[in-house]
Amino acid sequence: MKYLKTAQQVILLALSIPIIGVLASPSSTPTKAGEDSPHWSYGGAANPTQWGRLGHDFALCETGRDQSPIDIDNAVLGTPADIVFNYSEAPLVVVNNGHTVQVNYEKGSTVSINGEEYELLQFHFHTPSEHTLSRRAAAMELHFVHRNEEGKLAVVGVMMEKGKAHASIDTIWKHIPGAGETNAVKGLTMNAASLLPNGSTYYSYSGSLTTPPCSEGVSWNVLAETIQVSEEQIAAFEQLYQVNARPIQPTNGRIIKLHPE
Ligand SMILES: [Zn+2]
Repeated sequence: MKYLKTAQQVILLALSIPIIGVLASPSSTPTKAGEDSPHWSYGGAANPTQWGRLGHDFALCETGRDQSPIDIDNAVLGTPADIVFNYSEAPLVVVNNGHTVQVNYEKGSTVSINGEEYELLQFHFHTPSEHTLSRRAAAMELHFVHRNEEGKLAVVGVMMEKGKAHASIDTIWKHIPGAGETNAVKGLTMNAASLLPNGSTYYSYSGSLTTPPCSEGVSWNVLAETIQVSEEQIAAFEQLYQVNARPIQPTNGRIIKLHPE
């Protein structure tokens, strides 16, 4: 059960282990919030319980009422699943940003959710999963980050369970650069669709970025089906990022909808 960390264990780990101190040095890790934003991490003095106090721009991490991730439970029946992925093959660009391993995607791949179209910007990984399903965490979670023309973000979450090795994960892991670096791999393409499960049943709710600045108004869509990765692949990621999952946040009465296929 090594990889089925509970939220409580994650908090303990985050508080007790000075993880990725070297990898996450502020000078070498530009973040989404920009180069001037304060250093944040999953352990040590800048752990998730402190994010909201690290700088003005991060206040929502503490004061926000619609924060992510959450425990997915007591979902109400929503409209039938209407999520269509139009991902195409793209050059492989792997970024090690000091907080996660991220694959940047070129323009032209989209997802349509309830008829709204969003462009895929990047996907990245967390261990253990950030969302939990009835308090159960998966070994890892994959986030496909999209944006529409109005600038609204939609993230599709995929739970990654311990099982068979995944060929696309092998390809990505082989090309992870050093912290703060980007590896635009020459002559290699990949299709993000290869990392999607078969089924399209999903849970939706309104939430936030799970990293500072914790901006809200993010459309969250967590697929009910999972993909598998091997124990070795999980261990390889944990070599870089032992824990990079924000603990679950209060639901504050938000409605979680289940959209069955
Ligand atoms: Zn994420």
